[in-house]
Amino acid sequence: MNEYIREHYLEAGKIAATVLKEAGAGIKEDVPLLEVAEYVENRIKDLGGDIAFPCNISINEIASHYTPDDDIPRFKKGDVVKIDVGVHIEGYIADTASTVEVATGHHSKLIKACEEALDNAILSVRDSVQTRTVGKVIEETIKKHGFIPIKHLTGHSLEQYKLHSGMSIPNYGSVFSQKIKKDMVFAIEPFATCGTGNIRYGKPHIYAAVKAITTSHKKISERFGTLPFARRWVPEMSMGDLKGLREYFELIESSGAIVAQSEHTVIVGEGGCKVITKR
Ligand code: MN
Ligand code: MN
Repeated sequence: MNEYIREHYLEAGKIAATVLKEAGAGIKEDVPLLEVAEYVENRIKDLGGDIAFPCNISINEIASHYTPDDDIPRFKKGDVVKIDVGVHIEGYIADTASTVEVATGHHSKLIKACEEALDNAILSVRDSVQTRTVGKVIEETIKKHGFIPIKHLTGHSLEQYKLHSGMSIPNYGSVFSQKIKKDMVFAIEPFATCGTGNIRYGKPHIYAAVKAITTSHKKISERFGTLPFARRWVPEMSMGDLKGLREYFELIESSGAIVAQSEHTVIVGEGGCKVITKR
């Protein structure tokens, strides 16, 4: 990887880490989710980054892909909140997430298991390692604590302006496997639950113009390219205007159990990896 690209990743990672940490401190009972989402998105720009995707704030059994459409939903005592932040600089993306519980500590073991799975996974990533090996580390760590990983959700490789650039890192010792190579960039993101670990789809609040067919699609792709955007970012667009775009449906644990997530972005090196989203 050339120095120019590496510097851009490191800077995006630094901004993402700072913003995620600040946002976590703002998650309190009765605060509208929108306040935190807008804080994250504005703060990314204040610090000199660009938004890679809308701030995801997914609560309890919702694992991912929720972002508020308005200021109605508020944090409640006991909520288990996944906050997921994406920053890019010239398309080089840093993707990071963590889980916080609002005013209680009932799920701290679940959250810790997920964090430990991420830490162990990071220790296992290096040139030539198989994605299955990393997945197995995640699965074993989560199971050791009495929880299960969500197999349907995975980590992913990143490339310029591509949030999911083709390779996945499973959250279990999957049969399918690919070889990780030096200089690849990955978001590693274990999800742990006390439920069955199956996923059902909810509603979409996030979209992307992967194929711009209509006039309104083209207007959207001029603004966001193929990167994801929130419905609330385009209040002038009707639901009809968004038809035909890629929809990111909420990902919900199907038995209704609580889900925790932790995520870092890493650059793969010879004998290990560099975590770019750690402060
Ligand atoms: Mn993420
Ligand atoms: Mn991710």
